[in-house]
Amino acid sequence: MARRVSARRVKIYSQYTYDSAADLLGVSTQTVRLWRRSGLQVLDSLKPHLILGFALNDFISKRSKRPKRRLAMDQFLCMACNAPKRAYGGIGDYQPYTAARGRLEVLCETCHGLCGKFASPALCAELAPILSITIRNRE
Ligand SMILES: [Zn+2]
Repeated sequence: MARRVSARRVKIYSQYTYDSAADLLGVSTQTVRLWRRSGLQVLDSLKPHLILGFALNDFISKRSKRPKRRLAMDQFLCMACNAPKRAYGGIGDYQPYTAARGRLEVLCETCHGLCGKFASPALCAELAPILSITIRNRE
């Protein structure tokens, strides 16, 4: 899951390189380069490329306002479909990590790939009417 980045430390009248922006925000240089593809304005007529503080601030602010994807109780995020999906065949496996927490895995209703999410025994109980869950204890 993407980390939340705060624009608070960005000085709007400063200029940043990919490296200095990355250091400032605690993300990798690669992340800042990827932001360029998602719309971060970069001054690329000179080397090194520069990012104006206000452009960086603007980009991060807009980005953090983007609604976060919420999964319904019976939905799982399928990485292959990149979408929330329900369980294929109404079956799932629960692997407890602790008494209160574990991982619930199902097959994607569309591509039949493996999807999972963290879950609790309480969630499994709530899902019981619609999902047949097998508890798998790790050896
Ligand atoms: Zn899928």
